[in-house]
Amino acid sequence: MKAARVLCPGLLKLVEDVPEPQPSGNEIVVKITASGICHSDIDIVEGKLERTKYPLTIGHEAAGVIYKIGEDLHHTQVPLSEGQKVAVYPTFGCGFCRFCLAGRENLCASAQAIGFEMDGSHAKYLLVKSPNHIFPIHNIDAQEAAPLSCAGITAYEAIKEYVLPRATPGAFVTVIGVGGLGHIAIQILKKMADVQIIAIDKDEKKLKLAEDLKADHVLESSNDRNLVEEIRKLSSDNVCATLDFVGNDSTLQLGYESLGIQGILVVVGAMGGTLSYRGPDPKRREIVGPIIGSLGSMREILDMVENKEIAILHQSFSLDQIDSAFDKLKHREIIGRAVLTP
Ligand code: NAD
Ligand code: ZN
Repeated sequence: MKAARVLCPGLLKLVEDVPEPQPSGNEIVVKITASGICHSDIDIVEGKLERTKYPLTIGHEAAGVIYKIGEDLHHTQVPLSEGQKVAVYPTFGCGFCRFCLAGRENLCASAQAIGFEMDGSHAKYLLVKSPNHIFPIHNIDAQEAAPLSCAGITAYEAIKEYVLPRATPGAFVTVIGVGGLGHIAIQILKKMADVQIIAIDKDEKKLKLAEDLKADHVLESSNDRNLVEEIRKLSSDNVCATLDFVGNDSTLQLGYESLGIQGILVVVGAMGGTLSYRGPDPKRREIVGPIIGSLGSMREILDMVENKEIAILHQSFSLDQIDSAFDKLKHREIIGRAVLTP
């Protein structure tokens, strides 16, 4: 089968003769019809993530149809059958620790994810190690479902866990970076929180998108603006949370400095920025850095999309167009998510 493989850091190649995976035991093979391209894929190709082992098929936002199921599943009550439309939760924990037992496999100390440590979904077929990572989909197409596996659950869980408990009516939430994750976050905030949203991006098209998604305030990030002062003034110093979907030195500083009392900086973006901290802090601000989301969040965000409460914007590319899709993502030309259709 054809698959997009990173052979070594810096070398992404479409390989034609990768062996098709075969399921055994409880495993399932999904025929991929949609595979979202996350900004993290760029980091993996460039060799920036220590945890990644090469060579590797990348892609961790997968949707498609069940192609084959392992022999053990034929004799169980698991309600999955060949031909069913599904999305795939990407992270696999040990299955036994307290985090895995709570469905939070993303917090398991020995978690591994498709497209990071295990072969991923920018390919014709994907091997899925256990049936509880398979989520049937009904009312939405695979291209809308695939980005939920990372962009969707990450944005959703960050908001549910860190923003909603602080979102008193009239408070402000800042969203930095209106890309794959950011455009979903704005919609979730609109739906779930009675807050004013300040959206920030470098790119005009993303700012227009934020306006279309009804962000209350839209600010262009540029070096010659004092955005901290602007945000503090605009919000009367009442920003309860910043969702930073970039995570470089300047966005971390902007996100933290513009928080109000007991505000929280939620660092989702993985650009590797650092922030110097001097405590004690009279404002008692907090900083967290969540990594994707739980199995439960996957079900909840899928339901929101199935119920048309939020929409996942996407641009489609064939597997052969992967270089062009990566190029557009790097140059901030993708509105929403780039999705491959292997
Ligand atoms: P994306 O490329 O789709 O979106 C990034 C957005 O940020 C773009 O709209 C871009 O124009 C904007 N941007 C870039 N630099 C900016 C700046 N200095 N100021 C304001 N806006 C700026 O990326 P994505 O797929 O949405 O991912 C966002 C980040 O989150 C990436 O770093 C990715 O690796 C990371 N990520 C983390 C997790 C996690 O679990 N923590 C999960 C998925 C992605
Ligand atoms: Zn991702």
